Amino acid sequence: VQRCRIVAAAEVEQSYIMIKPDGVQRGLVGEIISRFEKKGFLLKGLKLFQCSKDLAQEHYKDLKDKPFFPTLIDYITSGPVVCMIQIFVILSCKAWEGVGVVASARKLIGATNPLQAEPGTIRGDLAVQTGRNVVHGSDSPDNGKREIALWFKEGELCEWESVQTPWLIE
Ligand code: UDP
Ligand code: MG
Repeated sequence: VQRCRIVAAAEVEQSYIMIKPDGVQRGLVGEIISRFEKKGFLLKGLKLFQCSKDLAQEHYKDLKDKPFFPTLIDYITSGPVVCMIQIFVILSCKAWEGVGVVASARKLIGATNPLQAEPGTIRGDLAVQTGRNVVHGSDSPDNGKREIALWFKEGELCEWESVQTPWLIE
């Protein structure tokens, strides 16, 4: 019996995840994508991309007054990144309300400073320094929307249903 209904795509929380240039250079693309796949998130967009300084500055505009802003922009534009949209198929059951891909992805990623990130997290397992912390994840659903609009064009997104969904959500 299907008691739940998959909500319209627009209502589904989405996170923008990005493997930074060090993750690409260090051969960690497969490993990092695999962590999100194994968790059960649904991949809705994926590409290898060399970004401009303008785009990097817009993405990190909230940090523009920080002392590390110039080196952060150099770092993010130093080579290709892998851009991803991860979604969590939310059902309209009460029990699933408030469970979000944004917060959950941040937990998988771990603390900004890899020395403080727990073992088992991506940064805890794969990185040692804040300025080379291999991966980005949106910090709020609103920023998820903003970042996806910034990094992806309409035709680059895929609407699809995973055969895993009934095995992930009761
Ligand atoms: N960053 C840095 N030095 C700092 C803080 C941040 O180089 O002292 C870089 C780091 O790559 C981090 C990014 O700036 O991931 C964005 O910072 P934020 O505080 O948003 O951390 P995040 O959301 O990525 O954990
Ligand atoms: Mg952030």
